[in-house]
Amino acid sequence: MRARPGKRTYAGLTDVGRVRAHNEDSVLLEQPLFAVADGLGGHEAGEVASGIAVTALRDAAPAHADANALGRAVRAANRAVIKAAREGRGREGMGTTLTAAIVEGTRIVVAHVGDSRAYLLHGDTMERITGDHSMVADMIRQGTLTEEESRSHPNRSVITRALGTDPNMYADTYEVDAEPGDRLLICSDGLTGMLTDDRIADLLGHYGDPEMAVRELVDAANEAGGHDNVSVVVVDIVGERASTEPARSHRGWLAVLVWALAVAAVVGIAVWGTYRYAADRAYLVAENDVVVVYRGLPGEFAGISLRWLAEETTITVGLLDPVTAGRLAQGIPVEDLDAANALVAQYRAIAEARSGDVDSAPGGP
Ligand code: MN
Repeated sequence: MRARPGKRTYAGLTDVGRVRAHNEDSVLLEQPLFAVADGLGGHEAGEVASGIAVTALRDAAPAHADANALGRAVRAANRAVIKAAREGRGREGMGTTLTAAIVEGTRIVVAHVGDSRAYLLHGDTMERITGDHSMVADMIRQGTLTEEESRSHPNRSVITRALGTDPNMYADTYEVDAEPGDRLLICSDGLTGMLTDDRIADLLGHYGDPEMAVRELVDAANEAGGHDNVSVVVVDIVGERASTEPARSHRGWLAVLVWALAVAAVVGIAVWGTYRYAADRAYLVAENDVVVVYRGLPGEFAGISLRWLAEETTITVGLLDPVTAGRLAQGIPVEDLDAANALVAQYRAIAEARSGDVDSAPGGP
């Protein structure tokens, strides 16, 4: 299930199901931001509410995996839904769930309101990240109802917290440190109401391609009856933490994808091999206008520099020809330390000859 370079790392799908006339769910796929919203209100108001919620979320979301900032973005989405109803878009009393995640390397933050859910699949084990804000979830927590009984309870779709009514509503937030190869699932109750967690985990882990996993989960919910709109977002966890990356907009999904693949490639394939390789190599570089010899490689690899100072020579770069000086500014990699020493000897001879020229330049004896 580990992502290979060039492979898509996320997918999402929303489907009307087999019973409802409208799809009132909305999904958001703007890497690294992902969300599912399940609208309520009927007469098409639910889809207005869920649509406004994900749009407002996108506009207010932080560029990084900051749980508190994501929680504030969900509160902004709540105010946007309330405002829209007051202005006559949708209808008064419309609402929506919202389960949002930002995935940055192996770090996942989630902000959540309602009964849409986020899960993390790690190996064969799938864990629920979010806790439902619903009447049956409260009863399960109080011990008066079992998970199994809740599936057929007449009030199973009554939610106790939603966007669209209370301006002081807050979101629950979660921070998860995942591992490469893990898989994040965000879904509406149209999936979890139709399939058990065990069945969802089986399907989620069975398909390497997130696109296919999403399709199979939606199909399975529909085959089980499709009583509700069903929305599924799957995100594969790849690469390292991004804490040292400069700030970027969450709209730059292509840049993020390229970056994630580059990190996956560099970290996964190169670092160990590069380290072994670098230890035997050497390069010359200009520092403070003298030629300096390092063992290792110029530049950085996944934020790590692989170099060890070997010799700081007395050769003045300004005495060498401009082309060599230019190459030295970038660093000249060579096979090994012996090759570096040979080049140093060559440059020293040139520099000494030039400084000799300087000494015997006009004005000299
Ligand atoms: Mn629903």
